[in-house]
Amino acid sequence: MTTVLLVEDDPAISEPLARALGREGYDVRAHATGAEALADVRGVDLVVLDLGLPDMDGLDVAREIRAAGNRVPILILTARTDEVDMVVGLDAGADDYVTKPFDLDEVAARVEGLLRRAGRTQQAVSTVLQVADLTLDVDSHDVRRGGEEITLTNTEFELLRYLMENVGIVLSKQKILDAVWSYDFGGQVNVVELYISYLRKKIDADRPALIRTVRGAGYILREPQ
Ligand code: CA
Repeated sequence: MTTVLLVEDDPAISEPLARALGREGYDVRAHATGAEALADVRGVDLVVLDLGLPDMDGLDVAREIRAAGNRVPILILTARTDEVDMVVGLDAGADDYVTKPFDLDEVAARVEGLLRRAGRTQQAVSTVLQVADLTLDVDSHDVRRGGEEITLTNTEFELLRYLMENVGIVLSKQKILDAVWSYDFGGQVNVVELYISYLRKKIDADRPALIRTVRGAGYILREPQ
């Protein structure tokens, strides 16, 4: 399994990011301090590193990793947007950076890109989720119901993927919002209702319903009964 070391002290960032990377199939080890991260960096495949850590500067964490002869790819997370700091970040031995606030998909894409460059991507495993006659390919984004291709927007796709990964489990609107929309999304749970209605039109129209409303609790995706 590909292991990602996530070093970020703000749980509002690290928790959704850890979940997003976990959904991509990475084994995520999360730490909130530079010292903990340095103690755990051996053997990981990639480091996602915040610059503003409580105990030390993230750039020094990157320098220490490199000073130990470790060439692991390092992706910097930074709120410091001026160019000089970015260059310093790359000088410190980092491979890439994203600026906060970022989109979770953006970070996942950078992680994937860095791993590919480093030749560390894992062997392809089956990436097709299936519930009844509904299939979703995580890699190709191919979605079908009864063999018929269904075109989804990115958000619809991520929502359906989350529902399928949690088949048979009642998911509250808040839980869905936290999992599917990025941490800095200022939206309310009614966006979940809206997107569920979009998905139903595409997935369940004229067919036995897979997406069910559980009154007062949320939604569940399950085999039709
Ligand atoms: Ca921080």
